[in-house]
Amino acid sequence: METKLQELKILLQEANDLASAAAVLNWDQETYMPAGGGESRARQLAVLQRLSHEKFTSAAVGNLLDELAPYGESLPYDSDDASLIRVARQQYDRQVKVPSSLVGELGSHTAQTYQVWTEARPANDFARLQSYLEKTLDLSRRVADCFPGYEHIADPLIDFADYGMKASSVRQVFADLREQLVPLVSAITAQEPADNACLLQHFPEEQQWTFGVDVIKQYGYDFKRGRQDKAPHPFTTSFGVGDVRITTRINEHDLGDALFSTLHEAGHAMYEQGVNPALDGTLLAGGTSAGVHESQSRLWENVVGRSRGFWVHFYPKLQALFPEQLKNVPLSTFYRAINRVEPSLIRVDADEVTYNLHVMIRFDLELALLEGTLAVRDLPEAWHARYEADLGVRAPNDQDGVLQDVHWYGGIIGGGFQGYTLGNILSGVFYQKALEAHPAIPNEITEGKFDTLHTWLKTNIYQHGSKFTAPELIERVTGGPLWIEPYIAATCTECRL
Ligand code: ZN
Repeated sequence: METKLQELKILLQEANDLASAAAVLNWDQETYMPAGGGESRARQLAVLQRLSHEKFTSAAVGNLLDELAPYGESLPYDSDDASLIRVARQQYDRQVKVPSSLVGELGSHTAQTYQVWTEARPANDFARLQSYLEKTLDLSRRVADCFPGYEHIADPLIDFADYGMKASSVRQVFADLREQLVPLVSAITAQEPADNACLLQHFPEEQQWTFGVDVIKQYGYDFKRGRQDKAPHPFTTSFGVGDVRITTRINEHDLGDALFSTLHEAGHAMYEQGVNPALDGTLLAGGTSAGVHESQSRLWENVVGRSRGFWVHFYPKLQALFPEQLKNVPLSTFYRAINRVEPSLIRVDADEVTYNLHVMIRFDLELALLEGTLAVRDLPEAWHARYEADLGVRAPNDQDGVLQDVHWYGGIIGGGFQGYTLGNILSGVFYQKALEAHPAIPNEITEGKFDTLHTWLKTNIYQHGSKFTAPELIERVTGGPLWIEPYIAATCTECRL
């Protein structure tokens, strides 16, 4: 059995290495590649993704998994080997249903669509993307149809990102959350929004970069095993436990943009850097679900990075970097500015309270597209209508409307958004658990110390990679299922109601 396990590990590692090589090409496309590289890059990505998929879904892997099943069950459930066999089986059963040719077609099509999006968004030209998006929708449906017997066509796609969830269960969580958030939003918006003029001055790029890097180093993001570059849409990517990269974008006229996206991506990256090195190169070496991943980015961005304690420590340092702009701005004004709640147009810049409403809009639109109750050509107007209905705002164009998020233009339609809100909810749950174990964490944060929190997260979440599914991990950490109260309570404190 040891030999067979070794054989399995080698095959899985090869599949994983091909996928990582594709991820490097993807990272390059989104950071440094000249626009002219788009066509050949799409082809290269398609080849690597297809090869990785073929390798992973080969009969050899299937046979080894069959032979190793009893052995895996004889090992302790949480051992590395049992987890590898179990998770590989789960992913194999899923991926073997999708033909490699479809994976290749999808890889090539999304790389081309992404390239068009990078030009169409600044040009506010949805028409140019319409036929691309129609094909994406068709491909997404074809992927979903590889899993017949679903309750809702989005279910298989949601399950890819957030294992164990489906349209109906996400809708239930969203309905519960909406019930609490909508009155909160109306109560807040009945008041004058906090003054955020202090954030909207001119802040040169270099100092913004320096400050963000200093903070995430203190958080524990390891630059010896990572780096930060600029990209139009910030993201994190991992090529192994020893190379987890982040990107950010800088707006010299809004201090919050780069700072909070840097803290956000560092949260994702610290999760990946914190995986037990013994799992490196295996399919267990990444975060377990979109929701759990997002819980880490939102935890470091919002729960920590927008807290008063954090700024007690960091605000004097920020003032020293920007004396002209901030010397006459008291901490309390700055703190209110970064926690200002106001219905707005852009998801990634949205405050913590309204953020989930942005997610729910996208989730509902995805479902409608997949169901066929909404046509791609009607999507821009459907977007505007939902923003008016839910948030009371309407974008003057599609650039800040339906073109704002990369997801549908760089991947499939379906399953791409619910993880953000699940992550918000989980960030509250996990932080509460960390505080129960270590009540001194908030005091340490006011001193710029994050070791206790980071170590708790590594021990309880990061080191496991994807050994456990999200529901299993939540149960292990909290002793129960997902619940929304800690998130609602934290959100209310931050928005000072
Ligand atoms: Zn994120």
